[in-house]
Amino acid sequence: MSENQASAEPRIVLLGPPGAGKGTQSSNIEATFGVPQVTTGDALRANKDLETDHGTPREYMDAGELVPDPVVNEIVVEALSNTEGFVLDGYPRNLAQTEYLDEMTDVDVVPLLQASEEELTRRLTGRRVCPECGATYHVEFEPPEEEGVCGECGSELTQREDDSEETVRERIRVYEESTEPVVDFYRESGELVEVNGENSPEEVWKSLREAIERNV
Ligand code: ADP
Ligand code: AMP
Repeated sequence: MSENQASAEPRIVLLGPPGAGKGTQSSNIEATFGVPQVTTGDALRANKDLETDHGTPREYMDAGELVPDPVVNEIVVEALSNTEGFVLDGYPRNLAQTEYLDEMTDVDVVPLLQASEEELTRRLTGRRVCPECGATYHVEFEPPEEEGVCGECGSELTQREDDSEETVRERIRVYEESTEPVVDFYRESGELVEVNGENSPEEVWKSLREAIERNV
């Protein structure tokens, strides 16, 4: 769609390489702007062993590859079907998904979180997640009060299977190959806003919030 009228509830696509802080900042966007966070990675993790026409999501995710478009597109169609605003986290990840989304809805702003490869690797290999409530921690940058225990619900924290150093390298490669063209698409359409993701989560949120407010 070419005409892009801002809606009352912002329609946000949050881009950035794995580990840039998309999940962390999408939660802030959801809480502040009142729009649902649509995270394809979470939806796929909840259905990792679901048999689809293309095999299970696990076969792709554990190798750091993209899950086939039809499976992911269906998740997004369903999630956007009864909401005006949204923050998309982890979608679109290639040009075919971008064109699919473009047919489905306009978007108001596309912030791009950026961080160096060294920082991304440190963040991902140190990430710990709560399998029960989904809270995210980092052993060094965002440690829980009690080591290995979720501060929100008391469950034991785990490491994502794809956060190993080898799979992280592959995920960054896939980002450069498949998702950087998506960045170029939104740069050309005028919706892209670059945000430095290297600072503390609080500083990143301040810049991101200002960027969203300027553009919706
Ligand atoms: P993404 O969703 O882009 O993959 P996450 O939001 O899950 O990234 O963040 C990856 C890891 O880095 C998590 O362990 C998180 O706690 C940590 N993290 C997020 N933002 C920052 C930041 N600004 N500085 C340091 N660590 C961060
Ligand atoms: P994330 O939680 O965003 O880091 O995503 C974890 C994994 O889920 C990715 O490495 C992919 O295997 C899969 N995935 C998430 N979103 C998408 C998407 N939009 N397209 C294809 N695969 C995806």
